[in-house]
Amino acid sequence: MKKLLVLAAAAMTVTTPAAAASGLSDAIRADMPQLMTLYRDLHANPELSMQEVRTPAKLAAEMRKLGFDVTEHVGKTGVVAVMKNGPGPVLLIRADMDALPVKEQTGLPFASKVIGKLPDGSETPVMHACGHDTHVATWLGTARRLAAMKNQWSGTIVMVLQPGEELVMGAKAMLDDGLFTRFPKPDYLLAFHDSAQLPAGVIGVPTGYALANVDTVNIHVKGLGGHGASPQTTRDPIVLASKIVMSLQTLVSRENNPLEPAVVTVGSFHAGSKSNIIPDHADLALTVRSYTPETRKLLLDGIKRIARGEAIASGLPDDLMPIVEIEQPSADATFNTSPFSERLRSLFASHFGADRVTQPKPIMAAEDFSRFWLADKTKQSTIFWVGGVPKAKWDAAAGDINKLPSLHSPLWAPDAEAVISTATEAMTVASLDILKKG
Ligand SMILES: [Zn+2]
Ligand SMILES: [Zn+2]
Repeated sequence: MKKLLVLAAAAMTVTTPAAAASGLSDAIRADMPQLMTLYRDLHANPELSMQEVRTPAKLAAEMRKLGFDVTEHVGKTGVVAVMKNGPGPVLLIRADMDALPVKEQTGLPFASKVIGKLPDGSETPVMHACGHDTHVATWLGTARRLAAMKNQWSGTIVMVLQPGEELVMGAKAMLDDGLFTRFPKPDYLLAFHDSAQLPAGVIGVPTGYALANVDTVNIHVKGLGGHGASPQTTRDPIVLASKIVMSLQTLVSRENNPLEPAVVTVGSFHAGSKSNIIPDHADLALTVRSYTPETRKLLLDGIKRIARGEAIASGLPDDLMPIVEIEQPSADATFNTSPFSERLRSLFASHFGADRVTQPKPIMAAEDFSRFWLADKTKQSTIFWVGGVPKAKWDAAAGDINKLPSLHSPLWAPDAEAVISTATEAMTVASLDILKKG
């Protein structure tokens, strides 16, 4: 904050960039009441992945009012809003808009009471527990600024409101529906996510891998069932599945290069119905995480090999080998290209002050923003974080994130005002820099 004051003081005397910066802050401050009204409305009315209807309709109408050329229903429920403004690069700005099957416990006055339907038909409470409502509000805030500042940039902006991020389906659905062929193809890809690991208003820009490859692996372990008193007549799938779980621990500890991050977690183990029955199958479900394609292959191949090897060691015949299934869609790691992410980090540091900008380590969650860059790796791409932990809570926990609610928690209540105003300002200065007049 101190640095900001110094910048503001300097602006009054000479430097025009800082004067422009404070003009931008003022304009965003004036927009905030409307953006917060939108945020609270979205928060109270969350929509599950690939079922977004109200959110895109509302935002499409707003974007038309700003003069964007708007196309709805791209990739089922996505929105693409294009503004062409002379020669220059094409910049894609993406916000995801889906919520989660979580029962909100924040106690906020505008907390969600919405009940939704999962793809299997079952009912679930729905909550914006990942903060995508702050992303949507920022998306509109950025569009509003860029439309108002048209005389200060040159190029094309492609604003993308993406469905189904939580199921890592929406980006692919939009690409399959012609995002890069029906609309101007982007040279730069930009997105942000609110963060439960940074204090409100702090920006984190990773370089290189930002988020991980995530695979869900199901192992269906077979056995020969029978009476619990006669194990010699059976091949016990619970014992076999237990051995598989233990052997899987050596994949990361003994086979993987310790300098390459990797996670193999068995999150679910289901077998049997009664104490004196040896069942004929056991089911394991794993989450497998990595950054590089090589580590990903090592883990997935290793899981198949260990499952089969342990089954052979247990004396199971060929037709009772475990079935290993990798669930689709899986998520590919999100990569921040090096010149672009570094340029943004220094741009944000000079705009907001170095004390508000960090270079965080990658995290092992996933994002399907990755797909836009993977569809054409010659382009520049960055996703950055904007801290959402309210300052009082951050200080009370002394910055120990283990004491704070994470994303997807029913208690996640970001300082939305700080997230939306900071992210809108960051997105706008990034856009003005990329689309600088020649
Ligand atoms: Zn999420
Ligand atoms: Zn998210």
